[in-house]
Amino acid sequence: LNIRQITILGSTGSIGLQSLDVCEKLNIKIAAIGANKNIELLEQQARKYLPVIVSVTDEKSAAHLKQNLKDISVKVVCGVDGLCEAASYKNSDLVLNAVVGVAGLMPSLAAIRAKKNIALANKESLVTGGELIINEAKNNHVTILPVDSEHSAIFQCLQGCTDVKKELKSIILTASGGPFYGYSKKKLKDITPAQALNHPNWLMGNKISIDCATLMNKGLELIEAVWLFGLQIDQVKILVHRQSIVHSMVEFKDNSIIAQLGSPDMRIPIQYAITYPERLECPVEELDLLKIKNLTFENTDEKTFKCLKACKDAIKSGGLKPVAANAANEVAVELFLRNKIGFLEIGDIVEDAIKHQVSDNTNITLEKIMSTDLSIRAYVKELVNIKE
Ligand code: NDP
Ligand code: MG
Repeated sequence: LNIRQITILGSTGSIGLQSLDVCEKLNIKIAAIGANKNIELLEQQARKYLPVIVSVTDEKSAAHLKQNLKDISVKVVCGVDGLCEAASYKNSDLVLNAVVGVAGLMPSLAAIRAKKNIALANKESLVTGGELIINEAKNNHVTILPVDSEHSAIFQCLQGCTDVKKELKSIILTASGGPFYGYSKKKLKDITPAQALNHPNWLMGNKISIDCATLMNKGLELIEAVWLFGLQIDQVKILVHRQSIVHSMVEFKDNSIIAQLGSPDMRIPIQYAITYPERLECPVEELDLLKIKNLTFENTDEKTFKCLKACKDAIKSGGLKPVAANAANEVAVELFLRNKIGFLEIGDIVEDAIKHQVSDNTNITLEKIMSTDLSIRAYVKELVNIKE
């Protein structure tokens, strides 16, 4: 393996924990870890894996953690700067970014500028800063390895394709359809957070679970794919595939389609991003096609699930619109989880926010992205009349 030491950002989350598990089995050293505020778990992880740097967002939590860890040799850092310090730690061979939300953008950029390859789970990095990330990665000769299962599938299907621009016709992103597949608007109106958090095929963090239920996740993934694989928007097709066995497909110029199949277990794409180009054994369930028997494909319902259509519109207009869609969604999901708004309002809010954002298509800088993110957050709170 080329990877001896790895940095895991978002180490306390669903992807972070599975990544630590994968690294442990591969005997890869954990060079640095970072999270938001779960200092109990960070302390356990620091003791178990002995990283050089531990990053936590809040200053007070960092002081606590430092105190608790004073018997071991570890540098505790805090804030965005701390997270970026962890992301650019010199001895690390790979940065796995599993932070949730736009908070993952800065550490992605920091890793790229430090010339670290990235295993990217944080799709919001590419949704908000796609152009910036792709350009900087090119300039710094950095490879971005997808962790998101659909993008890993596409990446795997493209192995052996020597000229993607010339040979690829389209990609087919599969979508599980989420827990409310087939529901009418009337039925969706009174959905509670507990119902929405209950995904049929995957166990994930809260935010992405809601994104799956609203189909925002597929919208974010569409934008992620456009940047990651250098596609035109109309080269991306989306199909509902209830079984979550075909993780995505690519269609070539000769109308041949290649698909990647596997058990719905994130440790497969996580491990492939780490071991690429090698494939190693992975302790996940073997796929039993005789048991599964049927694989089905259908169209998505964009009328009921507005978020997907809003994301399509956002990436079509380009500029800062995807930043607006993402920021509005992050706030809306949080408000929904706190019972401040209904399930369907998430889609209304995202749709409203991209109309509100006056697109700026030139010279997208990190500063413009961050200020758009902040102004849309404020706009959404005003819109639903939340005072904080
Ligand atoms: P979780 O909510 O389970 O975990 C999020 C992680 O990010 C936690 O470690 C959390 O720390 C940390 N975090 C949150 N905010 C900050 C911040 N401001 N600074 C530093 N760290 C922060 O999310 P998931 O693991 O489910 O998802 C992570 C990313 O991976 C998302 O972008 C998601 O879309 C993507 N993804 C997830 C999949 C899944 O199966 N879960 C599948 C495909 C993609 P703390 O615990 O302290 O709050
Ligand atoms: Mg996915």
